[in-house]
Amino acid sequence: MIPPATIASHHLQAIDLYKQYPTPAEPLVVLRGVSLDLASGQSLAIVGPSGSGKSTLLNILGTLDHPTSGSVRLNDSDTSSLNANGLAHFRAQHIGFVFQDHHLLPQCTALENVLIARLAASRVGAADIARAQKLLNQVGLGHRLTHLPGELSGGERQRVAIARAMMNRPSLLLCDEPTGNLDAKTSRSIGELLISLTSDSLTMLIVVTHNLPLADRLPRKLRMDEGQLIEA
Ligand code: ADP
Ligand code: MG
Repeated sequence: MIPPATIASHHLQAIDLYKQYPTPAEPLVVLRGVSLDLASGQSLAIVGPSGSGKSTLLNILGTLDHPTSGSVRLNDSDTSSLNANGLAHFRAQHIGFVFQDHHLLPQCTALENVLIARLAASRVGAADIARAQKLLNQVGLGHRLTHLPGELSGGERQRVAIARAMMNRPSLLLCDEPTGNLDAKTSRSIGELLISLTSDSLTMLIVVTHNLPLADRLPRKLRMDEGQLIEA
């Protein structure tokens, strides 16, 4: 299907990222020259052992952390040129996150948790409420709008987190072990949901995962190895 012209084209470009942490001995070098290119509708999985730097890379791509050197461009903005305020606004507009832990607010309903994504960007209006309801329908929770996180299953909570991440129509959806706390069957349905939601909207998708069936479902698989990304 040819995408309508109104859908913006997205582009992520990471160039020669290095990340090191100071330690009392020699610096701990976690990323050693990572480069990556992604365009609208493309998705990839990142696998690799624990401690290999996957979360570090995802946080840098998502502007939650700074590289020691190298740069991240998203939709032709150089994210290193933005100050903290500008970055927070940019992130809210362009990037969605799904973590292993859902990070939902326990005192807010499913619907309110999805709407929270709008608060960073603007005031919440009727159109936002309609979109949040539609997203919750799409993730299969149309009948759970007023449930609190404590009244939902683990898989349902993660579905709410996915709806929240998609609320602002992000260019880029970053998922860090999104099925890490879920059983195999629930993991499979969460994986399918991530893939279908992002491919419908041409959102770029990066999934860090230990879940090999999920990684295998994505068209491209990369492995973190010695601080570099290699084709797996
Ligand atoms: P992964 O997500 O692949 O398990 P991480 O990116 O979380 O790995 O961590 C990579 C390495 O960087 C680990 O050895 C970790 O201990 C180290 N590390 C992560 N964050 C920090 C930090 N803020 N300060 C020092 N070391 C860190
Ligand atoms: Mg990690």
